[in-house]
Amino acid sequence: MTADEVLRRAAEEGVRFVRLQFTDILGILKNVVISRRDLGRALDGVITFDGSSIDGFVRIEESDMVLRADPATWCVFPWSEPGARTARLICDVCRTDGRSFEGCPRTALKRAIETAQQLGYALHAGPEAEFFLFLTDERGRPTTQTHDTGGYFDLSPVDKGEQARRAMVLTLEEMGFQFEASHHENSPGQHEIRFAHGEALATADNLVTFRHVVRRVAARHGLHATFMPKPIYGINGCGMHIHLSLHKAGRNQFEGKPLSAIGLQFMAGLLHHARGMCAVTNPLVNSYKRLVPGYEAPVDIAWSEQNRSPLVRVPAAAGADTRLELRSPDPSCNPYLALAVILMAGLDGIRRKLPAPPPVNRNLYRLSAEERRQFGVGSLPRNLLEAVGELERDEVVRSALGEHIAGRYIAAKQVEWDVFHDQVHDWEVGEYLSRY
Ligand code: GLU
Ligand code: MG
Repeated sequence: MTADEVLRRAAEEGVRFVRLQFTDILGILKNVVISRRDLGRALDGVITFDGSSIDGFVRIEESDMVLRADPATWCVFPWSEPGARTARLICDVCRTDGRSFEGCPRTALKRAIETAQQLGYALHAGPEAEFFLFLTDERGRPTTQTHDTGGYFDLSPVDKGEQARRAMVLTLEEMGFQFEASHHENSPGQHEIRFAHGEALATADNLVTFRHVVRRVAARHGLHATFMPKPIYGINGCGMHIHLSLHKAGRNQFEGKPLSAIGLQFMAGLLHHARGMCAVTNPLVNSYKRLVPGYEAPVDIAWSEQNRSPLVRVPAAAGADTRLELRSPDPSCNPYLALAVILMAGLDGIRRKLPAPPPVNRNLYRLSAEERRQFGVGSLPRNLLEAVGELERDEVVRSALGEHIAGRYIAAKQVEWDVFHDQVHDWEVGEYLSRY
């Protein structure tokens, strides 16, 4: 869609308000509502806002920022009422002189996409975001009470989330999503909705929209949807596996058995930078409670053609559908930054022609220390602090973020770790209070 088409559609569809959306460095969706009157100005990139209160943006002295709306992201919210039809546009954050702003996560992803383009590649990504639907209490606050007893692929009556999930899919389809599959996940109250893979930027835009829609529709059904990676100890957490392939001149460059040389190098890049990327793909203190053995989440840096415990799996699909599945990311990540670091890590593998290690077609959770050494299998960081240290040391990942974002991101995550670390947790009280 061009800017002119957006203006025409807005008039035709009787749109009254437009939400100009963008995300902060932590991936939190932000927006400012304008009237349709100002839509032309938004598309020209002249709507300013104060960026100083947004996480990771700028200091007070240079707080004026501009939102430049991307006409390709025009979408009328299906839930908006006829008298107050509301649409949204996703924006890049710019400086008032029109220069792009290095603190904008969407711009960081665009930069990575441009680098790939210079080599002739376009990254396609297909995410599988998992989430929990929990009950709310009498005051509407979220609980961690699961409202169903369903397991993997179960259906109603044990799957009590089925109705809400169907409504989510219908809403997403109305918003232009190409729905692929939805199902009950492994844990009670846990669900997954998959939409078709697409180019990296569209996928990142889709993911922020997806999280918004899922939470909104859940609330309409009296439920709380959460993308928190591990809300409950002892059962599966929520991952967001991402299926990845590189395309050149309309052809999937990973096509091969099981992968082409380019595919293997891209994967080697992912494995090489797995520790450095983790603070971005798994950004919360809580993310590391998911990355433990026994819950279908990866712990080890290895790949396999079959089983589900390694970091990268090569699904059986062949031909044009050949892809690899990165299993570490979780749905709390900033999708723009996650795809930016994933793309640059993979390209680094291609540039340096990194060799892929042999596949480990074993249940990695059962590998002994000796076997891990023998197979050369490393581990993902055990906690956010370790992950932040790895990010600081990884030049490729840091430059994918850009120094502005990297610096602010690392500082924010260090504070998050310190606050967590200083707390006295329930586990400690339970474990030590009576014994010591
Ligand atoms: N919930 C699992 C995870 O944390 C993944 C389950 C699956 O294979 O879909 O990654
Ligand atoms: Mg799943």
